[in-house]
Amino acid sequence: MKRRNVLHLAPGVILGATACSSGKKKAAQAASQKPLATGLNTSSAPKTQPNTQYRPPAYTQRLRNPDMNLPSEFRSATVTYNKGLSTHPYLAMTFDDGPHPQNTPRLLDMLRARNIRATFYVIGRNVDRYPHIARRIVAEGHEIGNHTYTHRKLTSLSDAQVRQEMQKTQDSIARATGVKPRTMRPPYGALHTRQRQMVFNEFNYPTIMWSVDPEDWRRPGVSVVRSRLINRAHNGAILLAHDLHAPTVDAMPGTFDGLLRKGYQFVTVSQMLTQRASV
Ligand SMILES: [Zn+2]
Repeated sequence: MKRRNVLHLAPGVILGATACSSGKKKAAQAASQKPLATGLNTSSAPKTQPNTQYRPPAYTQRLRNPDMNLPSEFRSATVTYNKGLSTHPYLAMTFDDGPHPQNTPRLLDMLRARNIRATFYVIGRNVDRYPHIARRIVAEGHEIGNHTYTHRKLTSLSDAQVRQEMQKTQDSIARATGVKPRTMRPPYGALHTRQRQMVFNEFNYPTIMWSVDPEDWRRPGVSVVRSRLINRAHNGAILLAHDLHAPTVDAMPGTFDGLLRKGYQFVTVSQMLTQRASV
């Protein structure tokens, strides 16, 4: 309350010494030090008013990306998810099949401009081709997930081949970014229940499907992709899109802005699962 609260800004400049009436002695001592700052009268009550207009710079950022800490050892409770809880206006945007040398950086710029987070289900082969883009995904706060190494239909592969697809991609991502993916998405959404359990047991990956699919891979046009995503979004939605396709990325500025206008906040898939597990 007294001396401990005195803030030394520079030799001779002391603020806060007179804030407490019981600290008169200290205040007198402070005054005798002859502050250098002109107009600073340390022998009477401070003239400054609390700045009620001030907002920390992170204020709007927190609104867009709710503060949801992930445990260091992520452990999913369930093998498969296609959405999160409907109790909060949270969305998880997911982008599959990258990194792409042009479209992914363009998408990252759009996300960064709005300060929103997404999840990228990357193909291991592409990570090996463009490790710097994978690094940028992680560096800018997005989540990176396992989407296999060669993008084959896993339902027609042996267990050993599925394991290899998972492991090679995990290794590529770890090599490029220093991060181990927490979740996986099977190409074409195709993975038998038994395979999902195997991947869950051996890699600790829950299988992440989706609840909103604009079928952007059919290339229905920018405005159709945008309106499907905006109109079908719901609390806890996991939205599927592909940063492989330029028109999909072209649709994103309008999609993000439309979803923000509707009051949604953006989380990564793991954040959404954590919220689901903790409620
Ligand atoms: Zn895919």
